[in-house]
Amino acid sequence: MTDKENRAGRSECNDDQPFWQVKSLQDMNLDEWDALCDGCAKCCLHKLEDEDTGELAFTSVACSQLDIASCRCRNYAERTFLVDDCVELTKENLSHLKWLPPTCAYRLIYGGKLLFNWHPLMSGDPESVHQAGVSVRGKAVEEGGDQDLEDHIVKWPEQDYEEDFEEAG
Ligand code: SF4
Ligand code: SF4
Repeated sequence: MTDKENRAGRSECNDDQPFWQVKSLQDMNLDEWDALCDGCAKCCLHKLEDEDTGELAFTSVACSQLDIASCRCRNYAERTFLVDDCVELTKENLSHLKWLPPTCAYRLIYGGKLLFNWHPLMSGDPESVHQAGVSVRGKAVEEGGDQDLEDHIVKWPEQDYEEDFEEAG
């Protein structure tokens, strides 16, 4: 998300309220939908599924297309062609994506919750998600070699930040 997109999102607010507080996810336009992404890149980490229980576990290993420094996809436009299990988040499939991290803005808004203060839409600064330690920056490792994903199972992507919720504006 860029500052320009951020400002564009705010410019469409009704009654001075930001769009994410007055519009449902279904009613958001494409720019607003895209601006909701906080850029944490936790959804771009490899996950493992327990064959018996179906339970998913995050690993710290990033998708091969993720730039772990910037937390951006190197080939965003072609992502679903380049990576078989890259899932495009849409209004239609959002409710089925149980593995989205608890801090994911789409999951929060879908669940009727508020954005955290470190969300770039709240702070006006795309770096705030990284400065708050919420993104994969400094924690994710590159995919490659003879990595065993089981050795890289981590809990931090599932960490909630409930105490940091903004109060309703
Ligand atoms: S987890 Fe959600 S907010 Fe974070 S990068 Fe993925 S889609 Fe965006
Ligand atoms: S291809 Fe998909 S999963 Fe991989 S970095 Fe890009 S957006 Fe993330």
